[in-house]
Amino acid sequence: MSILFYNFSLSNGIFLCENLPKVPFVSIMYLHSTRVYGRIMDFATLKTLCQLDGVSGREDAVRQEISNQLHSLVQDIRTDVLGNLIAFKKGRTNQNIILCAHMDEVGLMVKYISPEGFLSFVPVGGIDPRTLLAQRVRVHTSQGVLRGVIGTKPAHITQEAERGKAVAMTELFIDVGLTGQEATEQVQLGDFVTLERSFEQVGPNCFCSKAFDDRVGCFCILEALKRVKNPLYGVHVVFSSQEEVGLRGAGTAAFGLEADLALAIDATGAADIPLCRPQDYIVRLGGGVAISAIDSSTITPTWLFEGLKKLSAAHDISHQVRIAPRGGNDAGAIHRSRTGIASCALSVPTRNIHSNVEVVHQKDIEATVALLCAVLENGVEKRG
Ligand SMILES: [Zn+2]
Repeated sequence: MSILFYNFSLSNGIFLCENLPKVPFVSIMYLHSTRVYGRIMDFATLKTLCQLDGVSGREDAVRQEISNQLHSLVQDIRTDVLGNLIAFKKGRTNQNIILCAHMDEVGLMVKYISPEGFLSFVPVGGIDPRTLLAQRVRVHTSQGVLRGVIGTKPAHITQEAERGKAVAMTELFIDVGLTGQEATEQVQLGDFVTLERSFEQVGPNCFCSKAFDDRVGCFCILEALKRVKNPLYGVHVVFSSQEEVGLRGAGTAAFGLEADLALAIDATGAADIPLCRPQDYIVRLGGGVAISAIDSSTITPTWLFEGLKKLSAAHDISHQVRIAPRGGNDAGAIHRSRTGIASCALSVPTRNIHSNVEVVHQKDIEATVALLCAVLENGVEKRG
């Protein structure tokens, strides 16, 4: 049994920050001061994770940071061939759960260097070309990081018919400020490129950054492990690689694990924006942790879906149902592992997903951590 300090109310936040002046700048301090399961939410760690670069297949920096934080929380840590970081935490029973979040982010790869030193690229993961023009990037070379910007033909020399159309990825290039010779000396084909964006607060309750997909999931698992010292389940913790290119890491990681159930913690696209109808929102920012009924990769078993909703209600955790006709997550690979593992995705609603201005809501992160804690403390009732 746990003591629940979970509290979304603004008054609680103000109480915790009562000595601070009430100006917008200080709301960061407010965000850093909320409590879930008796522990202050460490949003500084979320910022650290988001600022690291880790395109699919190059998750090294993220893996190192998470590994540093995991050492005091689990009994066993290893990295497998595909780059998954896998750990175990002993439970009170012989039942096991997999908690999985992916470390990789969408990005780009250099495929051509022009004689003038401009870089053409291909996407790594499902990145929307409409979001790329005029962005700052970081080119990860063997000699270090090069700063660059993404450009295209200037508007004032385009034809009438071209204006108003989205620019295709093939018409974009990266300018790293080098001559052709300098570029070929410093950049190699196959070098990875990440989008650059600082981590900022937006409004009183939201954050904006690159890579919330899925550093926010990694963060939620770390936060839950910091809170639940003696879980009901033995916990197989998987920080997976290469989710954005086809759930690759989670598939091989799950193959090596025996578990009674699995939860994939991930960001999911929130379409609660102008131009979309409420029935097309999928999930809503501020509506709490999203419990998946179905997406393009997984259908959640009834007992697990109902059990998670019931647990959320019993612990007064804000939650919503996710029905996503497109898009999947690591649950899609895990639930088909071996003879099958009952799996569900718990998602943090994210606007502008797969761009470098993803937006998430503090309450949804808190709710996700709270539900993970409730699962680890109490288990999910299995019926049928
Ligand atoms: Zn994701």
